[in-house]
Amino acid sequence: MIRTLPLVCSICGKEFKPEHEIHYQDDYSAQQIKDVKFVCDDCIRAWQEKWQIAAAEFHEADYVLTVTIRLEDGTVHEDMDCTPNEDTKAVVTAEDIPVEAQRRLYTFYAAWKKEREARQLKDCFFHKDEEGNMTATITTYGGEHYENLGIRLSEEGGLLADRDVPDYILDELLVALQSYQSQEIMLNMQSTPRSQTAPAAMKRRQARSQWPGTYQPFNSGKNDF
Ligand SMILES: [Zn+2]
Repeated sequence: MIRTLPLVCSICGKEFKPEHEIHYQDDYSAQQIKDVKFVCDDCIRAWQEKWQIAAAEFHEADYVLTVTIRLEDGTVHEDMDCTPNEDTKAVVTAEDIPVEAQRRLYTFYAAWKKEREARQLKDCFFHKDEEGNMTATITTYGGEHYENLGIRLSEEGGLLADRDVPDYILDELLVALQSYQSQEIMLNMQSTPRSQTAPAAMKRRQARSQWPGTYQPFNSGKNDF
């Protein structure tokens, strides 16, 4: 049985003649060719023209990467889930966007990633004096350096510094400090049972070594925790 199917665009509803190839939307529920959602060349062109990315802001929280995109025509797509592909140098988004736009989005992504990596702490040394005042000496991968930065936790659990530092430095420092404090708790738990049975001289030595003047460097590599 030979059947005929008029080519009707699923977007504009017009009948069309394909130029070189037929565009259609992915739809796994389509069982027959008549269920396929064709898209005419005019609608494809309009879609490609629309997706001129003017700006893109990436955001990562709990390992979920999202992007807010502003198009040249002013349209804003907020917090779209997205997945960068290092091999194809393209970023796939929840919204279907042209390949050229995916590649352009990747350039924004690469710049964002580079900046983010530069802001991560390469070295971080904490120091606590007898009164319990804490300082941190840090260097980022991008080369920013802060010497003996006085820090303390705020009531809300945030980190306060004794001078003006960018928020991203405080965010990184807070994570490093939390990790350092949990290491400190573990060290105390390891040494406490032994010191209970140890001779007095050894107890004193251990008590001192629990609070050394300078701690081992804490390296916050991006995948270390
Ligand atoms: Zn159309």
